[in-house]
Amino acid sequence: MRLLIVEDEVDLADALARGLRREGYAVDVAHDGPEAVDRLTTVAYDLVCLDLNLPSADGIELCRRIRTDPAYRPGEEAEVPRVLMLTARDAVEDRVAGLDEGADDYLVKPYSFAEVSARVRSLLRRDAGRSSAELVVGPLRLDTARFEAWRGDRPLDLTAKEFALLRYFMTHPGEVMSQERLLEHVWDEHADPFTNTVRVTVGTLRRKVQPDGEDPLIETIVGRGYRLLDDGAAA
Ligand code: CA
Repeated sequence: MRLLIVEDEVDLADALARGLRREGYAVDVAHDGPEAVDRLTTVAYDLVCLDLNLPSADGIELCRRIRTDPAYRPGEEAEVPRVLMLTARDAVEDRVAGLDEGADDYLVKPYSFAEVSARVRSLLRRDAGRSSAELVVGPLRLDTARFEAWRGDRPLDLTAKEFALLRYFMTHPGEVMSQERLLEHVWDEHADPFTNTVRVTVGTLRRKVQPDGEDPLIETIVGRGYRLLDDGAAA
């Protein structure tokens, strides 16, 4: 999952980014309005943590654009990112305005990281149409809160990146995902698009979820990308 933090307070933005990266999300940071617009119109984010009070932009207006302006939906799947509004203003009318303009949820500063983390998890699950912390696809189970995954009864020993990749596959079961799309949603801006990092990570993940002798779950579709089989059946 690829996240954008829009926050002008650098220390706050960095702390949030560090925490969310530890949870396996790919995180970019924008410190002002123009930087945020630049990112939002070039990268297809799954979720935006948006500070309402920016010196160089109106957070409510930015939120409205994210929801309504097609230029803010780049990428092949063109989905509207979830918006978690972070605000120091606790006036009721500001929250209402934020929600009216399409924020999916909000937190009033000062917030704890645990709160942000829980809201982010909840919003990304809502995206996948699920209501518990657990994702289930075929024989695969993934606990997004505890960072654990299983195939049947067998726990999977995954790296943070493999976990993030499996989580992304499991929120889009049955969809063919190009290398570009995986790179965009599971890696951050520091990933080199010309390396074979996606192929390598899919390879190591696949060896863990489908060792020799077990039915394949992640399919390669030549020339198009990869797909997690959604019925868990053998290809
Ligand atoms: Ca601010």
